Amino acid sequence: MSEKVYIETYGCQMNEYDTDIVRSFLKQGDFALAASPQEARVILLNTCAVRENAHQRIYGRLDQFRRLKEKQPELVIGILGCMAQNLKEDLLERGRIVDLVAGPDSYRRLPEMIRQVRQTLKPVLHVDLSEYETYSDICPEQVDGVNAWVAVMRGCDNFCTFCVVPYTRGRERSRDPDSVVQEVEVLAMRGYKQITLLGQNVNSYRAGSCDFAGLMERVSEVEGIQRVRFTSPHPKDFPDSLLRVIAENPKICKHIHLPLQAGSDRILHRMNRTYSREEFLLLVRKIRELCPEMGLTTDIIVGFPTETEEEFLDTCRVMEEVEFDSAFLFQYSERKGTTAARKWPDDVPDEVKGERLGRLVELQRRISLRKNQQKIGREVLALVEKESKKSAQEFMGRGDDNRTVVFPRNGTAPGELVRVRITGATSATLLGEVASAER
Ligand code: SF4
Repeated sequence: MSEKVYIETYGCQMNEYDTDIVRSFLKQGDFALAASPQEARVILLNTCAVRENAHQRIYGRLDQFRRLKEKQPELVIGILGCMAQNLKEDLLERGRIVDLVAGPDSYRRLPEMIRQVRQTLKPVLHVDLSEYETYSDICPEQVDGVNAWVAVMRGCDNFCTFCVVPYTRGRERSRDPDSVVQEVEVLAMRGYKQITLLGQNVNSYRAGSCDFAGLMERVSEVEGIQRVRFTSPHPKDFPDSLLRVIAENPKICKHIHLPLQAGSDRILHRMNRTYSREEFLLLVRKIRELCPEMGLTTDIIVGFPTETEEEFLDTCRVMEEVEFDSAFLFQYSERKGTTAARKWPDDVPDEVKGERLGRLVELQRRISLRKNQQKIGREVLALVEKESKKSAQEFMGRGDDNRTVVFPRNGTAPGELVRVRITGATSATLLGEVASAER
């Protein structure tokens, strides 16, 4: 009988996608999947290294699995992903309950690594980064029936000074566009309606003469696909040709996630973001001239080393000027091996970071609420995704600009495009009633 493997995933969407790849390799290697750690003989944690609290969560989980391993000494416990790549052998030392450590470019070897642990009763580590591995030949196992994710490139060459990704995921590699289109065709045949193209720096995609604009056009032509999204781009890689394709192609969603990170030129320079505040604002103006209804969201870090109160206020001013629809807001967290960790002490006290974060959260909440309230009385074309979290009688869908919309089911079904008349709004969600279905 096949051995059962239980997998838990932490962190970003790329990690979720990688877990789908891991599932495919395990199935090919004659392993079965377990629904809980208790029924598994192998437990794999696919980890994130972007913030310190992600590490702490994994250590806490390992402490829980220690008890399971005491009862079942043959249990194999493995750490995959960015934390594996970042901490390497240190993880094998950690309380000596980890048997296997595999970085993001080592998933092809996982079945063999698990067997090796079984045969030798010794820990196995594989964390070599590859310049070529894109897992192009694998069609990952996905579960959600409406949205599918497709990684089009891996790694990152930008070396933002706070970020561990270039060290944990290696150099940028773009997939062959034909393999991307083939994967999307398979997903469309399985009934998926919306494709999100994934990459750490997705708009720097280039394979031969095919750039990111060309790739999105090709993906949008696949029959059955109604919407194409992408994440995460870098503001430095938005040529006019790409902006025009996003603005003009009806299947490409009118939403750009545009990570600002900071609003002060000195901090942006220290972060190695390679744009100034004014260049960022110019890009926003250009996007809005081309497409006034474009949804814009962002990422911000507060409390980067040496950030002053005045520099933090620069970030608030950019937020007020741009009026992002929503934002992911974080406190700076020093990551081992990054340029920022080597060059500058983490000198903004935690209470100051927390207080700045609180002010930014409140600022963004007010902006999001005001912008969502402006939608009341209008119609939004939403792709129905799934049951809403709060009620089995309601569905959750998403507008073209990525706003979440909740509405009574009213005979609609996941995967359908429906017109929803907006009747109410919170800072996070629009509420409405189905006006008509686009069947
Ligand atoms: S662009 Fe910067 S923040 Fe994004 S993954 Fe690359 S180094 Fe990290």
